[in-house]
Amino acid sequence: MFDSLSDKLDNALHVLKGHGQITEVNVAETLKEVRRALVDADVNYKIAKDFTNTVKEKALGQDVLTALKPGQMMVKLVKDELTQLMGGEAEGINLSGDPSIILMSGLQGSGKTTFSGKLANFLKTKKTKKPLLVACDVYRPAAINQLHVVGEQVGVEVFSDEGNQDPVAISKAAIAHAKQNGHNVVIIDTAGRLAVDEAMMTEISNIHEAIQPHETLFVVDSMTGQDAVNTAKTFNERLNFDGVILTKLDGDTRGGAAISIKSVVNKPIKFIGTGEKMDALDVFYPDRMADRILG
Ligand code: GDP
Repeated sequence: MFDSLSDKLDNALHVLKGHGQITEVNVAETLKEVRRALVDADVNYKIAKDFTNTVKEKALGQDVLTALKPGQMMVKLVKDELTQLMGGEAEGINLSGDPSIILMSGLQGSGKTTFSGKLANFLKTKKTKKPLLVACDVYRPAAINQLHVVGEQVGVEVFSDEGNQDPVAISKAAIAHAKQNGHNVVIIDTAGRLAVDEAMMTEISNIHEAIQPHETLFVVDSMTGQDAVNTAKTFNERLNFDGVILTKLDGDTRGGAAISIKSVVNKPIKFIGTGEKMDALDVFYPDRMADRILG
């Protein structure tokens, strides 16, 4: 995960990690390399520039050059700032409803169905909840089947109504079914398209409006870098979602989406997907991720 970014940052911070004298010149040079590493990771140039400017200002404010261990202080400043950029504190999902309704949104192939299964599994085992998975992709019967397969894998019931072309009606029927059968979490998997289009946006907005979910999650493929960030922006403008799910981090060497999505949409990353299996799910902790990136 993020190997290429970690290597580049490690090289950039090499001098500061105690391999030479620290001067104003090499601090500036280091920050320039940090900026380059972020841009190479597919972080938007302005975000990368603001990031290094902030670190520089903080370094000046703390008189880093005259400190006892200036190199380590600088590395800590970079780490702290990276943590802040990725969201600061970890944020959970809202499970206060009975049932709590969780709506998935995102493009086709982003990992919605897989994540729906992972989340159901996580809630069932870690939080002793009784989830219900709901198949609302009315265009692709294969997607409905896929959710049934996933549901079977994690031992969670799947609600579907093949032939029904109205996702709002399916969602409402599923919520009624959940209430009757003691499910306290309803996870609604929706249809995505390969690119953002008006029909998809209208459909997901209509479902959102009709069922008023406790939690709306935007699922996105981490490997798509700045595209992930731009798609997040579009979905957020329509849905005002509550959190981001970043999938496929296991295949992402660059990390640009993880680093910059929070600062663009101002919504936290809540979980990350790290594989195809149903247990390949982690709560997203910005500080742990910064530790991992900086080694
Ligand atoms: P959807 O169209 O948004 O429902 O996407 P799917 O859940 O069908 O996922 C698309 C593909 O990505 C499938 O082959 C999944 O197995 C794969 N996938 C989903 N999440 C992850 C992940 O975290 N890591 C990896 N490596 N693959 C994933």
